[in-house]
Parts: sequence; C-alpha cells; structure tokens
Amino acid sequence: MENVAYVQELENFFNDVYRKRLEELAEFYPDKRSLEVDFSDIEKFNPELADELLDNPDVVLKASKEAIANLGITNVKGDLVVPNIRVVNLPEDRKKLIRDLTSVYLNKLVAVEGVITKITDVRPKLHVAEFQCKHCGRIYKIPQDEELYGKVTTPSNCACGRRDFKLIPEHSIFIDMQKMQIQEPLEALVRGEQAKNIDVWLEDDLTGRLFPGDKIEIVGVLRLIPPKKKDVAVYGVYLQAISVQKKEREFEEIEITPEEEEQIKELARDPEIYTKLVKSIAPSIYGYEKVKEAIALQLFGGTKNKVFPDGTRVRPDIHILLIGDPGTAKSQLLYYVYKLAPKAVFVGGKSSTGAGLTATAERDEFGEGGWTLKAGALVLASGGHAMIDEFDKMSPEDRDNIHEAMEQQRVSIAKAGIVTQFKTETSILAAANPKYGRFDPYSPPAEQFNIPPTILSRFDLIFPIKDILDPARDKRMAEHILSAHQVAGVMRNKTKGIMSEEELQKRVEEITPAIEPEFLRKYIAYARKYINPILTDEAIEKIKEYYAELRALGKQQNTVPITARQLEALVRLAEASARARLGDRVLLEDAERAIALHEAMMREIGVDRKTGKLDWDIIAVGQPKSKMDKVRTLLHVIKDLQKNYDMVTKDQIVEDADKYGIDKDEVDELLEILKKNGDIYSPRTGLYKVAEENE
Ligand code: ADP
Ligand code: MG
Repeated sequence: MENVAYVQELENFFNDVYRKRLEELAEFYPDKRSLEVDFSDIEKFNPELADELLDNPDVVLKASKEAIANLGITNVKGDLVVPNIRVVNLPEDRKKLIRDLTSVYLNKLVAVEGVITKITDVRPKLHVAEFQCKHCGRIYKIPQDEELYGKVTTPSNCACGRRDFKLIPEHSIFIDMQKMQIQEPLEALVRGEQAKNIDVWLEDDLTGRLFPGDKIEIVGVLRLIPPKKKDVAVYGVYLQAISVQKKEREFEEIEITPEEEEQIKELARDPEIYTKLVKSIAPSIYGYEKVKEAIALQLFGGTKNKVFPDGTRVRPDIHILLIGDPGTAKSQLLYYVYKLAPKAVFVGGKSSTGAGLTATAERDEFGEGGWTLKAGALVLASGGHAMIDEFDKMSPEDRDNIHEAMEQQRVSIAKAGIVTQFKTETSILAAANPKYGRFDPYSPPAEQFNIPPTILSRFDLIFPIKDILDPARDKRMAEHILSAHQVAGVMRNKTKGIMSEEELQKRVEEITPAIEPEFLRKYIAYARKYINPILTDEAIEKIKEYYAELRALGKQQNTVPITARQLEALVRLAEASARARLGDRVLLEDAERAIALHEAMMREIGVDRKTGKLDWDIIAVGQPKSKMDKVRTLLHVIKDLQKNYDMVTKDQIVEDADKYGIDKDEVDELLEILKKNGDIYSPRTGLYKVAEENE
C-alpha cells in the first residue's frame, strides 16, 4: 500500500470505530492526549493494515496521526485533536520475552512483559530543533528523528553554502522523556535462570507515572543504539514505548492445568505431606530437619492481605535467618531454595548489584548525570522470596531501610525531591557468618554477627548452625555426602557393577526430592494463590497458653522470654502450616508445629548461658537481661561516684561494683558495653565520665 492509501484507510478506520472515543477525548484534550487503540480492532477492520502496523509501525503510526487530523475533531479552544496512538493487545506471536528480541524485530512492533528495575528523572528531550546559521542567520526547523538514541539531527548545508549552526533552545520544541530498564519477570523464569533486561524510552504522557518494581506490559518499537565508538559494528538495542500497561504482580504466571490441580489436591491429602515437604528441600544436604521444616513453611507463608479494622496491615511473610559456622552448607541451602521457590531472587553478599536490597536514588551514567531510582532485590521479588547470603555485609543504606522493608514491607525514599514508596512484600531467607571465625553459643549473636538487635528481632526464626564435633553424626554426614558423590558418578557414567541395582535405587532415593521440584513449585504457587487459612479457637488457645506460660516464667525469673512480636510470628507459622496442606483452617496441630519450631529456636539461642534462663533479650536487646541489669547497675555506680568526682577511676568503680556482686572481670566487659552504647566515655585511659545526656 502507498502512504496515501494508508491515510485514507486509516481515516475510515478511525471514523468508523474510534470516532466516539476521539470526541470524548476532545473534551479533555490536550490534558489527555493519548488514544488507546486495540490491535484486534484494526485486525478486524483490515488485516493487511494490521500486518503493516506490526512490521512498519513508524509509517503506519505517522499515517494514523494524519488520518485523525483529517477527521477535523477539535477541542473547546478549537485546537485540532491529534493524540498519541497507544497500541495495545498485540497478537500472541508478537508477545516476546526480552531474551527473544533479536535483530529480526528491529523497527517492528513487539510486546514484552517486565519489571522495572530502574527509571530516570523525567527530562525534556528535543522534539523539533530550531537551528540558526552562524553566518547568514537563516533559520531551520528540524524534527528530531525518533529512531536516534539521543543524537541530535542537524540541517545539512545552509543555503549560503556553509555548515555551521547554532541550536536555539528557546525556539525549539521539547517533549518529556524518561528512560528505564526492565527485567524479565522472576515468576516467568525457570529454576533460577538469570533475568535479561532491556532499556526502554518513554515519551510525553507515558512519563512520570511508573516506578521501579512495577510490573508492566509494553508495546514498543525495537530500535538500535549506535555504538559509542566509531567503527564498531555491534549495536545495542532499546525499546521505544508505544503503550504501557501495569500488571498485577502475583503468581498468575504459573500455569496449572486441571489435571495438575487434581494432583495438587491429592498431595495435600497425603498424611505424610510435611515429611515429604522437608524431604523435598535440598535432600543432598544432610540433616537440618528443623531448618528445612521452617523453610518449607516459609515458602507457603501466612494468610495474605489481613487488615485489622483500624487499617493496620499484618505482615504475612516469614523471615528466617541462618547464622553460624562457615562451611555448613548455608549458602548451598539458600541456593537450593532459590531454585525451588516460584518467584525468587538470590543476592550474594558483595556480588549484589548497585541497587542492593531495598531501593536507592542516585546520579549515574544511566540517567546521564540526572537521578535514577533503582529497585533492590526485595522490591523486585515482592510477592515472592529473597535469598540473601552474607546478610551481614549489606550496605549502610540498606541497613537503614531494612527495618521498614522487613516489618512494614515497604521502602520509602525521600531524596533530592524524590518522595516515593516501594512495596517489599517479600519473605527473607538470609544467612550470615560470624565476624570472628566460629559461632560461640555463649555470647549473644548481635556481638558476633554484624547485625544489630533491631534487625535480628525482625526475623521470625533464627537458626544457629554449628559445626559440632560429634563422631556419630560426623560419620553419618560423611557417608551421606560421599554416597551422594558416588551415586552421581555412577549415574553420570552409567557404570554397572559398582553397586547392586537395589542399592543404587535406595541411595538415589535418599538424595532425590520426595516431591518433584517442578511440581512442588506449582503446589506452592497454588497454595499461595488460593488458600488463606483462618485461626480456629483451638489453635488460638494453644498459642495463647504457650505465650502466657513463657511470660509467667519470665515474671518469675526476671527475664523476657517472648514478646508480642513473636506472637505474630507464631500465627504466621501456624497459618503457613495449614496452607501447606491446603487447609483453610489453622488447627491445633498447626499451632503445635509453629510452637515446636519456636521452642527449638529458643533452646538454641534464647538461653542465657550464665543463668540457664530463657531470655529473648539476647536477640532483641543484644544482651541477656541479667547482663543488662548489671550494665544499668554499673552506670548507677559511676553516676553516684561522679557526684563527688569530676572523673572516676577504674579502681573506684571496681570497689563500688563489688558491693553489688559484680566482680573485676565483669566490670571491664560492662564498661565496654557502656562505652559502645555511648552512656559513658573515657577522656583518658583508666578514667571515666558519664556522657552528658545521661547525667
Ligand atoms: P557456608 O555457606 O555455610 O559457608 P557452603 O554452603 O559454602 O557453606 O558449603 C560448603 C560445602 O560443604 C558445600 O560443598 C556443602 O556441600 C558441604 N556441606 C557442608 N555441610 C553439609 C551437609 N550437612 N550436607 C551436605 N553437604 C554439606
Ligand atoms: Mg556461605
């Protein structure tokens, strides 16, 4: 078809099918200046024209504007209505993954789905440039070619024969533009594949309404980015957005057939379901049954979207932290769960990219010196899981943001005029190694791991993983690991004769997930989507009893063994336990399962090793209550002494502390804590003063 023929045909199309919508748009034009055009409407009207739109979008979209202008529709002020054409709903064969955007699609219309990882400020871009010849003063208006990636098109030679122009910005026309990067949605990836990304340019009224973390479908034209250096033949690509639609961010990507749904329901009825779940998590890793059970529950999570009548939202996501000795398969476990979870990101300590865990606003090359907002791992994985290895090594910015990200499940950014919030409805499975070699059960985690108590206490469960020398266990574990290696070798080489068929069968079974991972992903996704269990009175009674008992014990022994925050953790775990068997009621057994996990954790890290008492302050405050009581006592001692002396000597402190049963060695340790907390300071060695705000 000729261009003229397009215009005529498009005029008919818009007049017949979109006239009413154009007239409605005219009322608000130019505040509203985009017309959404459903591809299938064009296809019904004229299939040939529709094909042309797919393969020659530049020509057809330009002709469309001409066609609409020819209709002569005007707004109240009498301006001609010529909106942006936003094509939506491309045919299936043009819906692509980012990785499939090869050169075949250059300058063609494609649709891709993605999550925004970063986005720049909205900035003006030259649309029609006015140039003046520096010699004769002639003026040239040059429309800027859409296809050029930020390059300015200048006039060719001037009528006076020279070629030396000056751009006049005041007389040029600019439009808003914004650049972003999108990444393939995590739930569309299979088993821990690396997500691919692409740059996208937004113009005019598409700008200013999107944020990192948003999931979108874009219809756009694939274009080339010229190489920065001359004589380089390899180009980059970007998408020029024609339309953008926001998408829900859930698990809808995972397709479940009716047959699979039947299988899912059948598995849920299996009385061995919990054992099977545990045996489906990293079976090649020996032991850690409690940890694996906790992780299984975490994958399901608590009941979603619970909101109290006063508007308070309750976090359904379970956070788990593994702390402990190096070389105990923590990283391996995290990586396994990452591949298993229906939607997950893996962040490996230092290797984590610029945006880190939460979100940042920074000036960088991507924004060409302007501000770029970037979504971190917890934002990108919102609705799913984040595995964070070397959690103790997070950036100072993340350290500030992570409290809000874990509890309120959002990150707020207020920087350089940017004020925005991101959702982080993500459950965290984190691992950390101790600062000094090995984990010491006798000192509080906050002292050994570079994680403050305020962050530690936001985890629902914390598991210390100790590499204990235990001959019997060591032997079994060595057998397990070595057997796994042998079996893998036999299977690789298909060797016969090393062991009997039955033996091989038995050993393969030991290290094979009880539930096939692909199917388990679907099972989890199904449960998370459709099942939201409610607490029964029996479950409530059980949890209440456990809580009350621990609180009473605390009152009796002067510690705080459990806090209300952990009450919520117990509810989440119990809900997850019900969900794991697709139960819509949280039963007594679910409450018991949650309590058992909590008890196991308390036995491991919630015991003050000096007094043998259960004490959650070890985590929440960073020191057992017994010690904090002494810290406070010692501060009193120093304050008392300061009434008579300007500075206090260590000997004076030791002498007075003795009256309260605090011995010399302890004084040293307590003085360190007081100094670290900023309660006292030491103007000279051996001399102490109370910090002013404490006087
Ligand atoms: P971490 O992150 O705790 O420092 P890694 O995950 O890097 O440890 O594990 C170190 C190695 O030790 C891995 O190759 C892992 O397979 C092995 N390993 C340690 N503990 C176990 C275990 N319980 N079962 C199987 N392999 C183990
Ligand atoms: Mg590790």
